[in-house]
Amino acid sequence: MYGQERARALELRERYPHAGEVLGLYLALVGVWESACGCARLKQAAAEVLPRVVAATVAHGPPALAKAVGGAVGGAGSGAGGGDGAALLAAWVADEELTPVERYLARATMRVVPFEGRPEGAPGRCPACGGPPQLSYRVASEDPLVSGRRVLACAKCPHEWSFSATTCPNCGESGRRTVHAEGAGGAPGDRAAPSVGRREAEAEALFPQLRAETCESCHRYLIDVDLGREPRAVPRVDELAAVPIDLHMAEQGHTKITPNLMGF
Ligand SMILES: [Zn+2]
Ligand SMILES: [Zn+2]
Repeated sequence: MYGQERARALELRERYPHAGEVLGLYLALVGVWESACGCARLKQAAAEVLPRVVAATVAHGPPALAKAVGGAVGGAGSGAGGGDGAALLAAWVADEELTPVERYLARATMRVVPFEGRPEGAPGRCPACGGPPQLSYRVASEDPLVSGRRVLACAKCPHEWSFSATTCPNCGESGRRTVHAEGAGGAPGDRAAPSVGRREAEAEALFPQLRAETCESCHRYLIDVDLGREPRAVPRVDELAAVPIDLHMAEQGHTKITPNLMGF
């Protein structure tokens, strides 16, 4: 079930040393998800999957996250006799305010639980659960000069849906989108310019399949994965490797519509 994701994460870990820790953790989580398949209930996931997500994160996560996860569980989990895990997952499902670490734990655990949300019917929100889009991708097009159909992938459930290529999924504004590759978009002479200038030539080669799509109205962006340029890409895995693009977008004052599993 997670074979493609595992293979792609292994491949990208070789190719993108900057994403080595994040993808190493992702691979550890894939191991947890694989052995948890069939875990259909939230309470069961809280009892059986959440502790293994914690263990995998402490063992394989970036040091700061590993430490924070240990702290979060020590604080929340031990107090009320183990009921807190289910409460955490329920809070995430209900879109309640969570700390970044809690959000990470809930999201990594809920990956194995079929999501039942309330569709909001808003444009740009998931038609299955009402969640925000994590990323967009383009399917390969017959015509090499034309980008393929645009698909959005939900941040809260596995659902994916077709969406207008010219509309912002966050605010619904049409025709005010800007596309950034890594390093692009900085005017010569601005603060980001030195690193931008140095990296511009290799930016295309580093992330041929990735770019950020920004809305000029609401200044939110998404990572877009172009399967036409890299058919082997697995959008949810490739998006995790886009950290340099995310940092660049933050420097430019743009915010991702919603952070990914790893908090970027
Ligand atoms: Zn959804
Ligand atoms: Zn917008």
